[in-house]
Amino acid sequence: MELLKERILNDGYVIGTKVLKVDSFLNHQIDVSLFNEIGKEFKRIFENMNITKILTVEASGIGIACIAAQYFNVPVVFVKKHEATNMDAETYESEVYSFTKNKFYKVRVAKRFLLKEDKVLIIDDFLANGNAACGPIDIVRQAEAEPVGVGIVIEKAFQEGRHKVEQTGVPVKSLAIVTSMSEGKIEFK
Ligand code: 5GP
Repeated sequence: MELLKERILNDGYVIGTKVLKVDSFLNHQIDVSLFNEIGKEFKRIFENMNITKILTVEASGIGIACIAAQYFNVPVVFVKKHEATNMDAETYESEVYSFTKNKFYKVRVAKRFLLKEDKVLIIDDFLANGNAACGPIDIVRQAEAEPVGVGIVIEKAFQEGRHKVEQTGVPVKSLAIVTSMSEGKIEFK
């Protein structure tokens, strides 16, 4: 997606060798008109897959998923990272290793929001090592629903995420694929 790549080149910056900061339009401040284009692009890519639900991980996936969902006309469910007293007792759970926090955390979805007949598109902002995508895939499969695809805004191809997700049998589509990055230089596939 050219518009996204241009924006990454103009406003993104690299920290160390592995972290791409895009918090002026994706992760902290949100460019809603860019999100609209991202939503349309996900719709174009996953058009014929009869998606019934979009699943994402809180917090940064929610905005992207909600805007995309308007084009699919389906609900968004987000995987919760924190236990809360107002959460249903009946949940599907999975363990995820956090790329940004370097620790394992449990994610959960109330059972009543994932049905056997659901065809689920999983959306996230970044694909790095693939853990944030594999947790939701595991949860969808626990519900005996079908994870039909993983839609990623920015994939870092020099990390193992794509390989890890594809091993689960779920196809991955990314809107911008970064093949290498260093301070002041970002290259795309
Ligand atoms: P993974 O589980 O694939 O290793 O990492 C995916 C999650 O980590 C994403 O949901 C995102 O929140 C965060 N993440 C991974 N790499 C980056 C990065 O380069 N920049 C930012 N801003 N977040 C990242």
